[in-house]
Amino acid sequence: MPDEIRFNRPAIEGDELEHVQRAVSGGHTAAAGPYSARVADCLRDAVGAVDCLMTTSCTAALEMSALLLDLQPGDRVIVPSFTFVTTALAFAREGASLVFCDIEEETLAADPSHVQTLLDDHVRAVVPVHYAGVACQLDALFEAVRHHPNVDVIEDNAHGLFGTYRDQPLGSFGRFAALSFHETKNFISGEGGALLINREADVDRAHVLYDKGTNRRAFMLGDVDKYSWQDLGSSFGMSDVLAAYLWGQLEQRAAIFDKRRRVFDHYMTALQSETQRLGFRTPEVPPDRQPAYHMFYVLLDRASRRDLVLRAMREQRINPTFHYTPLHSAPGAKPFLAYDTHCPVTDSVSSRLLRLPFHNNLSSSEIDRVVDVFLTALENHQ
Ligand SMILES: *Cc1c(COP(=O)(O)O)cnc(C)c1O
Repeated sequence: MPDEIRFNRPAIEGDELEHVQRAVSGGHTAAAGPYSARVADCLRDAVGAVDCLMTTSCTAALEMSALLLDLQPGDRVIVPSFTFVTTALAFAREGASLVFCDIEEETLAADPSHVQTLLDDHVRAVVPVHYAGVACQLDALFEAVRHHPNVDVIEDNAHGLFGTYRDQPLGSFGRFAALSFHETKNFISGEGGALLINREADVDRAHVLYDKGTNRRAFMLGDVDKYSWQDLGSSFGMSDVLAAYLWGQLEQRAAIFDKRRRVFDHYMTALQSETQRLGFRTPEVPPDRQPAYHMFYVLLDRASRRDLVLRAMREQRINPTFHYTPLHSAPGAKPFLAYDTHCPVTDSVSSRLLRLPFHNNLSSSEIDRVVDVFLTALENHQ
């Protein structure tokens, strides 16, 4: 039997273990330590944000952004139906009613023309996802919200760190952006995330929420002589042990980016010429966008065939996966829906999409084997 080709394989890429050891022996293992400061500065500068707070997850960063919106009863948040649960859940927990928008065929990200039809006086935020690390149509999205001054854009940038849209970094467009360092993402710390803040006016309150509702930061800066409970908040901070792990990854940022680009380009080259003959399509990357190479997906012509191909590949010890199941019809979303929406592209894409194994160290011969088994499976299930 050939070796199994796993969907994802988290890897040590540099000095992660040395940094972890240093974090532990240095004695500051809680949040807001020296490694957290280092990774936060690196991310803030890379994106050009005003501030960056390291969090326990992307979900926690989204929850912080929901708190910072100061949602009132009846407020609505527009979220794509084709995303991870917590893109929506973070806002529902803070009392928002959810309005699910559909995705566009090209990038599988929020469809700005659908968003436009859903905007009204109740909407407070739109939360686009840069699916697979390719920017959504940000110009059209901002054009749609331009006439609604109470609507903020919050980027769920779990896939898109170091990607760009018209040469501007993803994560720099929204009032806030959330990042993920979960082991399935491009840069990892096991679990982890960050909140990027793009407006100076949000910085002080963000730190109060981050410091469990206290003005501890003002105290540390010498602005007040003791600190106390001021506001809402939670324990959002990333342990410095995990920040040290992440720093080891970010030191290898260029190498990791190149490795992932190589995997993506290899798949693209090997598959592009077969799409017509075998009835599938590869990802589209519009020319004004630098992708972050989060994954490689293919879209088959029909759902029944996708499921057969998945099974056939697994029988050959190769592990592709499907992706998000639609949120607009999910049982967990029901209590939070402002009203029902139709998301036909989401329904269709969700049933036809297949993600091929994708990680930093997938070798050329492994990619060739995945391609070979995938194409054979397609030929056998016309
Ligand atoms: C992974 C992911 C999340 C959640 O990230 P965590 O760090 O696990 O909380 C949110 N949104 C999207 C689009 C994701 O891919």
